[in-house]
Amino acid sequence: MIVRALIGLGGNLGEVRERLDAAIAALDALPGVAVVARSRFYRTPPWGHTDQPDFVNAAIAVETGLTPMDLLDALLATERAFGRVRDGERWGPRTLDLDLLAYGDEVIDEDRLSVPHPRIAERAFVLLPLADIAADTVLPGMGRVGDLLDAIPTHGCTPLS
Ligand code: ATP
Ligand code: CA
Ligand code: CA
Repeated sequence: MIVRALIGLGGNLGEVRERLDAAIAALDALPGVAVVARSRFYRTPPWGHTDQPDFVNAAIAVETGLTPMDLLDALLATERAFGRVRDGERWGPRTLDLDLLAYGDEVIDEDRLSVPHPRIAERAFVLLPLADIAADTVLPGMGRVGDLLDAIPTHGCTPLS
C-alpha cells in the first residue's frame, strides 16, 4: 500500500539549505520513498531554547510503501548520516531534524512515534512550509493545515528566495 506522508525538516548549524537539499535527495533515493512535493525554505526564530541560531525549515510530501515505524527509522538514520548528534538536550541546536508530521490519515500514539506530530498546531515553522505543499490537507484530530496556520502568529518567519 502506498501512503502519502508529510515530513518537516529543519536545522540551524552550518550550511543548512545545502544540507536540507542533500537530505531531501537522500530520502528520495531510499527504496520505497519518493519525494512528490517540497516547500520553500523559511528562516525561523529558534523555538524552546531561544539563545541559539535561527533555523531554516522546510516540508516535503513523500509517497511511501514503508510502515510508519520503518519511515521513522529511515528519518532517524538520515539525521545521523547528516551529522546529527543527540546530546540529550531537547530543542537545542542541530544539523538536521526530520519529523514525521503525518502518515496518511493514521493516528499513532506509541512510545517512539506520535502521528500527527503533536506540536504541529502551535508551530509556525512547521505550518508555513507545510501550507506550501498541503494547505488543504486535514490532519486527523487537528484540522486543515491552512486553517491551523491562520490561527497562529508567524512573525519572524520569512521565506528564503
Ligand atoms: P519535537 O518532537 O518537539 O519537534 P525534537 O524534534 O527536537 O522535538 P527529537 O530529539 O528529534 O525531538 O526526537 C525525540 C524522539 O521523538 C525521537 O527519537 C522519536 O522516537 C520521537 N518521536 C515521536 N513522534 C515522532 C514523530 N512524529 N516524528 C519524529 N520523531 C518522533
Ligand atoms: Ca522537531
Ligand atoms: Ca525530531
